[in-house]
Amino acid sequence: MKKEFRELLRERGRSAMPNVLLAAAECAPLAKTGGLADVVGTLPRSLAGLGIDARVIIPYHRCIKDKYADKVEHMFYFYAKLGWRQEYVGIEKLILDGVTVYLVDNEHYFGDKIYRGGNPEGEQYSFFCRAVLDAIPNLGYDVEVVHCNDWHTAMLPMLAHTQYRGLQQDRIKYLLTIHNIAFQGKFGFDFVQDMLGVDSRYYTPEYIELNGCADYLKAGCVFADRINTVSPSYASEIRTPYYAEGLEGILNARSAQLSGIINGIDKKVFNPHGDELIPARYDRGHLKGKAICKARLQERVGLEQRPDVPIFAMVTRMTEQKGFDLVVCVLDDMMCREDMQFMLLGSGDERFENFMRSAESRYKGKLCAYIGYNEELSHLVYAGSDFYLMPSRFEPCGLSQMIAMRYGTVPIVRETGGLKDTVTPYNRFTGEGNGFSFANYDAWEMRDTMRLAMECYKNEEIMHGLISRAMQADFGFERSAIDYARHYIWML
Ligand code: ADP
Repeated sequence: MKKEFRELLRERGRSAMPNVLLAAAECAPLAKTGGLADVVGTLPRSLAGLGIDARVIIPYHRCIKDKYADKVEHMFYFYAKLGWRQEYVGIEKLILDGVTVYLVDNEHYFGDKIYRGGNPEGEQYSFFCRAVLDAIPNLGYDVEVVHCNDWHTAMLPMLAHTQYRGLQQDRIKYLLTIHNIAFQGKFGFDFVQDMLGVDSRYYTPEYIELNGCADYLKAGCVFADRINTVSPSYASEIRTPYYAEGLEGILNARSAQLSGIINGIDKKVFNPHGDELIPARYDRGHLKGKAICKARLQERVGLEQRPDVPIFAMVTRMTEQKGFDLVVCVLDDMMCREDMQFMLLGSGDERFENFMRSAESRYKGKLCAYIGYNEELSHLVYAGSDFYLMPSRFEPCGLSQMIAMRYGTVPIVRETGGLKDTVTPYNRFTGEGNGFSFANYDAWEMRDTMRLAMECYKNEEIMHGLISRAMQADFGFERSAIDYARHYIWML
């Protein structure tokens, strides 16, 4: 055990690391729609390396049942009270890569989509929170810390401290991680009363009320023992009205318990040296394989076979958060004037999808818009491109820029949240930096930064330095796990 942990534990009169239960809506590779699943899937393995018995509890979604049913072991069942209903809760267990995952089974709530949207989603995850709290004493595992993730599990500390007084659930410490403050789980008071029986005295701005609604994420911010978000910059940003979506008051009030921990990526999955999904392998010292990947990418998606032209890539949800309105603003200008190629792999808002489809038809051979989700192609895009564009309006952490850097694809980002914390802009005077960045959410600033990148592309020495420094950055999960371990111990 690290000396630092031994000392922190001794101050708290104990010698063993705490048992941690991660509660979330998704966990890779079982059920994944975004970066949250990667964190929940990877963190427990890194925590195990620090001597923490971390387990996971998620809903037993249909997609998990379809793939893993024969590996799942039934533990026990009971009925949970949800308003006037009694709902079946099955607790199943799956061991995945040495990590214990508890699955909450209920066909009615988790028989189709992971997220149903609106009130049906509120019902799904109100049920999940109730099921988790009722199941905890019977798991045969002494839970000391519950690590909640986003609004879907943010009601756990409030329910524990207001409805399970004096019981094990009340004694547990709760860490709330905010992966994206834009999603808060807002519902009418009647709905929350009906689902979870929350006492009406909590429907005030000091507790869970926000703009006339009951806000699940706010409840978590009020009642959790500690709060963290997924990068230090985002932790500062969400204390300001521009980013906080109404939660700046409570987050400022709790600033002593608020911090930022940068996410990591799975270095085994994203590894240009051993990746089976790309046609040639490479590392920092031997970049020939990257050129082969570029040629294969161009061939596969119908871009002109030219090794000398830079490929700018995006692998992303196509939403305003990701800066798509900036791309729309300058894409034609760039495609007409510059000798460049553009590769998009993504899906999302229809207006952005349509814009990119029509751009593809205008710039055949120069631009490819692959609309859809394709994990395998994403590896080729990361490996085969030269620059990775991520002009986000806000970005809690962002995994894509880290993946791109691992594959030696130089990031171009807006200086916000985790992008600011992971990309050091190129400094033409000192030669330092592992990417490019711009400060304001402004299409012309983005275009100028892309132009600067194109200038650097023409200089082999500069480009080689950028690629090398990008690939050198350490974005492994071990660093984040150490930070999380500290937070768990601080709360004891
Ligand atoms: P988000 O805000 O969507 O979580 P991140 O950058 O944190 O953004 O993580 C997105 C993850 O999803 C990355 O691993 C990225 O490669 C992957 N991804 C996004 N869109 C696609 C797509 N269309 N096809 C394949 N992978 C995708």
